[in-house]
Amino acid sequence: MTPAEALRRLERGNTRSVNGNFKAKNYSPLASTPAKGQKPFAAILTCADSRTDPDFMFDMAPGNLFVVRNAGNVLESVGLGSLEFAAAVLGVSVIAVIGHTECGAVIATEGSVKTGEMPGPHLDSFVDLISPAVEALPAGHSTQDAIAANASYQARRIQSQSSTIANLTATGDVGIVSGVYGLASGRVTWLQT
Ligand SMILES: [Zn+2]
Repeated sequence: MTPAEALRRLERGNTRSVNGNFKAKNYSPLASTPAKGQKPFAAILTCADSRTDPDFMFDMAPGNLFVVRNAGNVLESVGLGSLEFAAAVLGVSVIAVIGHTECGAVIATEGSVKTGEMPGPHLDSFVDLISPAVEALPAGHSTQDAIAANASYQARRIQSQSSTIANLTATGDVGIVSGVYGLASGRVTWLQT
């Protein structure tokens, strides 16, 4: 599968999800073959927010998506290692960074950038990683702008921080995309990375 085909598969799955026309309804292990080894076609880096579920948003049964999640869909070292594993060993064709509307991690970062106050020892870890995306925006930007900027910033960081993944994108084996999931619409809006 090419990166473009993998992206189209995600787009079609999201359309099914938005329309409530779910194909991957049967989550029984008997309905698929995950126990026989995995061959996911996409890796997803998304937020830990309880309202964002990649299998639901793309209507995918177990075995299709390799998922890394944390508050603010930030790229950190274990997550990057996981994405390298997905790309180099499992052979995913596309890596998608998916932010979402109303993201509390981004909103907290905007507050921190504004006031200069950090939220606390461990919460700082994702605020630190989101801040450069927020700080690069013009004054008066919207939270929606910050959410989109963070998703595309984390996607660019995958490319710049992993030579393994950069080599796979250079050969056309892997694509990196980013998007924002609308909590109200269920729709993923793809961004220019
Ligand atoms: Zn979030």
